Amino acid sequence: MFDDRPYDENPTGTFFNRVQTYEIGTFPNTETLHFPKSCLHCEEPPCVPVCPTGASYKRTEDGIVLVDYNKCIGCKYCSWACPYGAREFDEKQKVMKKCTLCVDRIYDQSLPPNERKPACVMSCPTSARLFGDVHDPSSEVSLAIRERGGYQLMPEWGTKPANHYLPRHKTRLRIHEDELVRANNPLKKEDIRHETSKEVSLDDWLM
Ligand code: SF4
Ligand code: SF4
Repeated sequence: MFDDRPYDENPTGTFFNRVQTYEIGTFPNTETLHFPKSCLHCEEPPCVPVCPTGASYKRTEDGIVLVDYNKCIGCKYCSWACPYGAREFDEKQKVMKKCTLCVDRIYDQSLPPNERKPACVMSCPTSARLFGDVHDPSSEVSLAIRERGGYQLMPEWGTKPANHYLPRHKTRLRIHEDELVRANNPLKKEDIRHETSKEVSLDDWLM
């Protein structure tokens, strides 16, 4: 996979999961929002019917959307059709790529069952990602969606993404007012202490 400078100032490469970072709110009531975005494995994927060679396809057995690199001619129609910007053109191999849901890993019988999960789920240090069958009402993901108000991204587009997002837990500023008063503070934060009582809700920005 083409990935020359993933961590430099101007990163380049083929990314399966871009984490976009935003600052939201008005200073000093700002928060940083990290928004991971990969292929959502839509139930009605607009990237599939536009593909002229059949390289883009959705598996009937599990709904995973994949690209057959042997059939891909690199026309990029699918990246125009995907409303989530999930497709990534590999400039070296000249084929379209995207998240595969680690399809090789999740069916690998040589792995213990609890490790048959996508690499992003396994590696997330805060367990922010869950993996399971969204059509099984008793699965971990279905329970999380029901109990925590999981939602699909841009449902008005009719793509019915299998991947859901869970609302963030409400966060509050935990800095005591005294901590904002510092000697030689160039930002003079002590002058804006009265403004810090307002709560910031990240979900108001997302939903
Ligand atoms: S997120 Fe984009 S690339 Fe993935 S299945 Fe949906 S339309 Fe296709
Ligand atoms: S870039 Fe490849 S997968 Fe995408 S539409 Fe063209 S042939 Fe199909």
